Amino acid sequence: MTETARVTLDMSKPKGMNKRMLAARIANAKPSPTAAISDEARRLRESGRNIINLGEGELDFPTPPHICDAAIGAINAGETKYTAVAGTKELKKAIRQKFQRDNDLIYSEDEIIVTAGAKQAIFNAFLATLEEHDEVIIPAPYWVSYPDMVSIAGGKPIIITCDEIADFKLKPAQLEASITANTKWLVLNSPSNPTGAMYSQSELIALVEVLDRHPNVHIIADDIYENIVYDGQFTSIASISPDLRHRTLTVNGVSKCYSMTGWRVGYAGGPAWLIRAIETLQTQSTSNASSISQAATIAALNGDMEFAADWMARLQTRRDRLLTAISATNGILSAKPPNSAFYIFANCAGAIGKRTPDGSMIETDIDMASYLLGTAETAVIAGTAFGLSPYLRIAYAVDDALLETACDNIITACKSLT
Ligand code: PLP
Repeated sequence: MTETARVTLDMSKPKGMNKRMLAARIANAKPSPTAAISDEARRLRESGRNIINLGEGELDFPTPPHICDAAIGAINAGETKYTAVAGTKELKKAIRQKFQRDNDLIYSEDEIIVTAGAKQAIFNAFLATLEEHDEVIIPAPYWVSYPDMVSIAGGKPIIITCDEIADFKLKPAQLEASITANTKWLVLNSPSNPTGAMYSQSELIALVEVLDRHPNVHIIADDIYENIVYDGQFTSIASISPDLRHRTLTVNGVSKCYSMTGWRVGYAGGPAWLIRAIETLQTQSTSNASSISQAATIAALNGDMEFAADWMARLQTRRDRLLTAISATNGILSAKPPNSAFYIFANCAGAIGKRTPDGSMIETDIDMASYLLGTAETAVIAGTAFGLSPYLRIAYAVDDALLETACDNIITACKSLT
């Protein structure tokens, strides 16, 4: 803990920006707020502060050795050249097997694409399909990138607020009410970043009943946290009805479940016309995902998941440690146990209107996040960034000792508010 200090996050556009040169689609786009807090945490660390970063959506575990070995093997075997733009035949086969084995989804080879991260699959799907006036339904709280991706691609994000009382999940009536003649996509992210909420099969069926009445609405199922589940059974929405399977892009990747964020591999299964369009975009932009990372991904998808039991046990312990800390903040923060992913979306309504020891008022969740960064030396992300306030997204993907210190600091900082 340090003296009370409030840190201001720099979310401004770079100085000297030449507005005349920039296209409107990018001039109006915001940089990712999660990247902004990581940059600020890094800057404070470089200035000698011991900042603990609970803002980053990245596991601290190393990539499992059998996956790294496969990458080294690929380098040694000379697999260092361009591959097919949509991914190697071997990796597409591993992805098809994974979809069938884990999700009951059968895809042919031309219904699969490998991308440089799940992010690229989603971005290119929007770029390939959205025109002015096209609407994309995004339940909030949402992963920070969806609305800006939609806007950059020329579409209109339609944000639907999903309250804490509904476990931050979209209700069928809300979905029904938000669909218009212009709706092209619904984005469904389960398990969710930032809330850690996962839709049960029956909840998905209820949403599918609505979608059945609107055959023009397509679905992006962002399943990237599929394997990080503590309670309950994960279901991929496209597996619920054969009709849905033809209008869903099921997106996944290795960043989260295999701790491979830096390798930049994602993939998607969907109708061949859409996969072809995404491939065309990729052909004219980034080409294939790294050949070495693709080889590593084959080892990830085909290899055994023995390591995952240990990871899940450690994550659950951390989740519970953080929940205990939250419950010790005298009502400043509150949260229910999330059943998946590695985030807690903590309500910070109890902090609003309170004063910090230096006399400043906490008026918003951004104020609370900057107070914790300056005083508890802990970086967390304000709910505003995810479309719902006043909340804080706290990621518990850091090592146990750091988490322990962060928890103690958060409790002390919260108790210092008056
Ligand atoms: N989707 C969600 C919900 C995420 O949280 C993230 C990363 O934070 C991504 C997609 C992007 O993952 P990738 O690293 O595969 O691009």
